[in-house]
Amino acid sequence: MNINFNGKRALVRVDFNVPLDKEYRITDDTRIREALPTIRYILEAGGSVILMSHLGRPLQKLNPDGSINREKFTLKHLVPYLRRKLKSRVFFADDCIGKKARAKANALKPGQVLLLENTRFHPEEEKGDPEFARQLAELGDVYVNDAFGTAHRAHASTAVIAQYFSPAHKCFGFLMQREIENADRVLKNPEHPVTCVVGGAKVSDKILLLEHFLSFADFILIGGAMAYTFFLAKKGNVGNSLVEPDRVEAAKAFLKKAKAAGVKILLPKDSLCGDRLAADATVQVYPSQQIPEGWMGLDIGPAAARSFARVIRKSKTIVWNGPMGVFELEPFAEGTKAVAKAIARATSKGAFSMVGGGDSVAAVNQLKLAKKISFVSTGGGAMLEYLEGRELPGITAIRG
Ligand code: AMP
Repeated sequence: MNINFNGKRALVRVDFNVPLDKEYRITDDTRIREALPTIRYILEAGGSVILMSHLGRPLQKLNPDGSINREKFTLKHLVPYLRRKLKSRVFFADDCIGKKARAKANALKPGQVLLLENTRFHPEEEKGDPEFARQLAELGDVYVNDAFGTAHRAHASTAVIAQYFSPAHKCFGFLMQREIENADRVLKNPEHPVTCVVGGAKVSDKILLLEHFLSFADFILIGGAMAYTFFLAKKGNVGNSLVEPDRVEAAKAFLKKAKAAGVKILLPKDSLCGDRLAADATVQVYPSQQIPEGWMGLDIGPAAARSFARVIRKSKTIVWNGPMGVFELEPFAEGTKAVAKAIARATSKGAFSMVGGGDSVAAVNQLKLAKKISFVSTGGGAMLEYLEGRELPGITAIRG
């Protein structure tokens, strides 16, 4: 954050989309906690902070009479929490644009905070309306984007607004900067060998990721249900495993491209299969290409876990997205656990490791291994798109 915030009003886009219980108490404050360093830094530098965020999807969940359910989706519920954490004056504006918001923003003194009402109360936010963005921009002297989780959306407060600030008056917050720097460590000039571990349910969700990984990986390890579509492409028998027959051609094409690019693809040799998708299913290990009818592959098998771990252990850069099996059910969590442990071990020996984009983050947390990974992204869908090599509107808007 190379801006001098002294005496400035900083308009900060944060992701305060936190879960609330029936009494509107915060049940998981992770997202707010992560934004606090940026807010504190600006306040300590002599600036004031105007916070913008969305909360939920108020326009998709209207009251029966078509009005907005303000009680449920108001950000006002967060004010007491922010006062406690920031130990500063925290004001609230019950509309994020307009006369009152402007007056409150203008009256802010250094060290004070103004929280604006949910930006998604206005349909213009998600439409990326330039006039709405301009009205938001009027509230601050500088713009800081610290909402990496929404960086893949071209919304008014996450991207469009940045055009109203010169390059010297806009920057990323610490959280967003960290996400970008860590992902770039994988995507730009990574230390080799580079291993990408990809799992999860569907080839269709991950094909862009796989294709982008081809441009810099040495090894790609494929687990999860998506592996069975690849086995179909290799004319294997996968029993009742979850497959996408309409992606078999895409899987074949990918394997061909990988060969041409000299990237080694590892599929799980064996699978831990169940007779049904349940925690008390009968289980049996089969070679992944010879799964009998009536059985479904629900995790990578022990031989696959060993060979995946071997590759991971000799890697210098590792990126992981997607579980190796149905890790939510204990009998099918072993493969994911083995991969997580191998990544943790490689990290302790000096490799750089990153886990990002959805369920694998949940897996690492569930296994209590997050601290042993170099970087665990909180970016969800935004990180997935960034790793796919796509431009994220929220990043481009600031970086140019
Ligand atoms: P994704 O969100 O694409 O990373 O997929 C994660 C989901 O894939 C998790 O809910 C897993 O339970 C599921 N999954 C992983 N492996 C399998 C499998 N072999 N069969 C069925 N579902 C799986």
